[in-house]
Amino acid sequence: MCIATGLVGGEAFSIDASLIKADVDKKKRMPGDQPIAWPKAEEASHAVREYLAALDTARGDEDGGGDAGGSGKGGDRHKPPKEVSLTDPQATWVARPGLDPFFAYDANYLIDNKAGIIIDAVGTRANRTVEIAVTQTMVDRVERRFDLRPQRLAGDTVYGAVRLLKWLVDRNITPHVPVWDRSARTDGTFSRADFVFDQQRNIYICPGSAELTSTGNIDQGHIVYYRASKSDCSQCSLKPKCTTAVVRKITRDLDEDVRDRVRALADTEAFQRSRRERKKVEMRFAHMKRILRLDRFRLRGLSGIRDEVLLTATAQNLRRLAKLLCRAPPPPEAACLA
Ligand code: SF4
Repeated sequence: MCIATGLVGGEAFSIDASLIKADVDKKKRMPGDQPIAWPKAEEASHAVREYLAALDTARGDEDGGGDAGGSGKGGDRHKPPKEVSLTDPQATWVARPGLDPFFAYDANYLIDNKAGIIIDAVGTRANRTVEIAVTQTMVDRVERRFDLRPQRLAGDTVYGAVRLLKWLVDRNITPHVPVWDRSARTDGTFSRADFVFDQQRNIYICPGSAELTSTGNIDQGHIVYYRASKSDCSQCSLKPKCTTAVVRKITRDLDEDVRDRVRALADTEAFQRSRRERKKVEMRFAHMKRILRLDRFRLRGLSGIRDEVLLTATAQNLRRLAKLLCRAPPPPEAACLA
C-alpha cells in the first residue's frame, strides 16, 4: 500500500539495528563455557526447546561441513557465549562499558529513505555478524517481493565490513557506509594508512621508502601479508615509530580495493545526503521505544522476537501511512458552510 501510494521511492535505503532487552531475569544465567543441564524437551519452555533445536541444527550443519551461522570470514560461530540465559538462551548477553549488562535481541529495520517507510524488519540475535547477514537477506527479499533494488544504502560502521561492501558493490548498490577498519594505531606508531599501496607492482611503500612485498599466500581465505625486508628495517631511523618486531608486516584484504572505493565516497554530496537521511531509521527506533514503549520484548525465543519486531514495524508503518495520507477533517463551522 505504501508503494502504491508513492511513499516508497526505491532509490535509497537505510539499514540499522537497535538492541532491545529480552524478557528474562538476568540473575538466572550460566557462563557459556560451562555445561548446562537443560530440562528434557517435554518439560522445557518454548524458548529453551527452540534453543536446543537450533543447537542440534547447527551441530548437524557443522558435521555436514555447512555454515549454519552464515558467518563467513572472521565469524565467531565456534566461540561460546559469555553468559547464557536459562530462561531465554537465544538472547545475547550485552556487556558494554558504562552500562549495566543485560540480555537482548536486535530489531533490524530496512527503510526507504523517501518517507521513512519500513520495507523489511527482522528480529535477530544481537550480534554484528548476524546484522551483516540479515542486511543481505532483507535487501534480497525486498527485491524479490517488491522488485525494488536501491541505488544506494546508508548504514553506520557496523555495516562497513568488507564482505558486505563487496556484496553491495557486486549488485550495483553504492554503500554509503563508513568503512570498518581496525588497522589504525593509536600508540603513535605508523598505521597502515601511512603506507602507500602500489597496485601495479603489488607492493606497499613504507614511510621510509622501503618496499613491503607479499609471497601471495592467502590466510583465512581473504588476508594477504606484506613484509618489509630485514635489511631495510634493521638500519631504518624510523623503526621506533614503526615496529618493535624485526620487520614490519602489513595485512591487506583481497577486497581492499572495494574498501578504498567506498572510502573515497565519504566526501561526496550523495554520501552526506544518505547520512542525513539515515536519521529516519534512528527515528523509527526512537518512536518504537518511546511511543510504542517497546524497550523490552514481551515474547521469548527467536521466533517470538521475529513476530514481535514484524508486528511493531507494521504498526509503525500504519501510523505513518495514516499520518502522511489522511488529512484532518475540516472544522465543524467550515463543514456547515460547505
Ligand atoms: S622500519 Fe621498516 S617498514 Fe618501517 S619505516 Fe623503516 S624500513 Fe619502513
